[in-house]
Amino acid sequence: MLETVNVPDATKKLGDFGFAGEDHVIPFEVGALDARGRVIQLGPLLDGILGRHDYPEPVARLLAEACLVAVLLGSSLKFEGKFILQTRTDGPVDMLVADFTTPGSLRAYARFDADRLEALAAAGEASPETLLGHGVLALTIDQGAYTQRYQGIVQLEGTTLQEAAHTYFRQSEQIPTEIRLQVAKLVRPGEGEFWRAGGLIAQFLPESPERLRMGDLHGGDGAPDVEVEIDNAWREVQALVGTIETGELIDPTIEPERLLYRLFHEHGVRVFPATPVADVCSCSRERIRGILDGFSAEEIVESTEDGRISVNCEFCSKSYEFDPAEFVAAN
Ligand SMILES: [Zn+2]
Repeated sequence: MLETVNVPDATKKLGDFGFAGEDHVIPFEVGALDARGRVIQLGPLLDGILGRHDYPEPVARLLAEACLVAVLLGSSLKFEGKFILQTRTDGPVDMLVADFTTPGSLRAYARFDADRLEALAAAGEASPETLLGHGVLALTIDQGAYTQRYQGIVQLEGTTLQEAAHTYFRQSEQIPTEIRLQVAKLVRPGEGEFWRAGGLIAQFLPESPERLRMGDLHGGDGAPDVEVEIDNAWREVQALVGTIETGELIDPTIEPERLLYRLFHEHGVRVFPATPVADVCSCSRERIRGILDGFSAEEIVESTEDGRISVNCEFCSKSYEFDPAEFVAAN
């Protein structure tokens, strides 16, 4: 269930007082603890993506989490490229896609079975884990046509996306990582409802590899409990991230910078220039034409309705129309 929270202070906007504001990725570093990370509050960007598709609330909530993971992980890419999060599962929400293109474009969509979703909701069983069900989460890094794609796969077995992201870092990246995701629909008196999602990622990146091994890389689902000495600095980061309260990451009156200060000021936290993230789709008429160019004459006929081929972008819902004659001639 979604909690609806009343936000009393509608006059103070993020961005005042030198804060980066919503829809900005804010990188930070806690040098004394060898930790680095990023934090973000998604606001209008999310309303754009979720509102365009008019997703039911439980679906919107899951997709918002997927957007957070894509932004938090994608914004760490040091080169031009794409970070793509995709789930394929057997639950009512059988596919989530969130793709982040550097330096700051995000697009996302969800596929779901409305009847199954309704049945689960009526039974009071529409938890995010149940909606996803079992399957895989694939995280793909794509640096363009001439480089190899990198893909990490994590099993989803009644797991939340936050848990799956943890597993990904433990298994694939081998970097001790803490990640927190929060999503809610909020209400501003006089302005109505709006979506907000907040996420924070913190990673242990000491210079010496011995210390890295003393992170929390042991364990995992089903793994036997092993006594591992955890580096004190990382233990402190984990403890501090553990104090993030429910709602703290999405509270419009708690700017991410303020949260970082609360968590880490005793150790000295540095905040780096923020990067704006925008609701931008990379679809184009040329790209879709390129796909149709690969169709056989038969497929072109099958795609034609009332003398036109009409293609809708799954991400941004933009509609493109083509004359089938353009393609039939080429075949
Ligand atoms: Zn599009």
